[in-house]
Amino acid sequence: MRVEKTKTNAQMCQCLNCPSYTTTCKIKNNMRTNEDVLQKENDEHWELLFCAIEKSNCIHENRGCMCQTCPIHKKYALNNEDYCLHTGGVF
Ligand code: SF4
Ligand code: SF4
Repeated sequence: MRVEKTKTNAQMCQCLNCPSYTTTCKIKNNMRTNEDVLQKENDEHWELLFCAIEKSNCIHENRGCMCQTCPIHKKYALNNEDYCLHTGGVF
């Protein structure tokens, strides 16, 4: 099932808790909390909820992935992870 790009889903995303999400990337995109997504509602690209959109513009290294523990992963019966590094994720 395709993940919907909604604020509710973005608030459940675990990416900001992930070791792969670098501090530089957080500062660059002003993404310290999932609530910051509310300010970016109209942006086409979010640096969050990568399983619903496309890969990140600022995460380039896999230092672990939280997707398997994420409620969105369960809600949409996703099979992949590392959605920030690969659009559509990898198994
Ligand atoms: S499955 Fe991964 S990319 Fe998708 S919302 Fe959860 S933590 Fe974010
Ligand atoms: S997609 Fe996975 S590896 Fe990338 S930031 Fe989100 S939880 Fe971490």
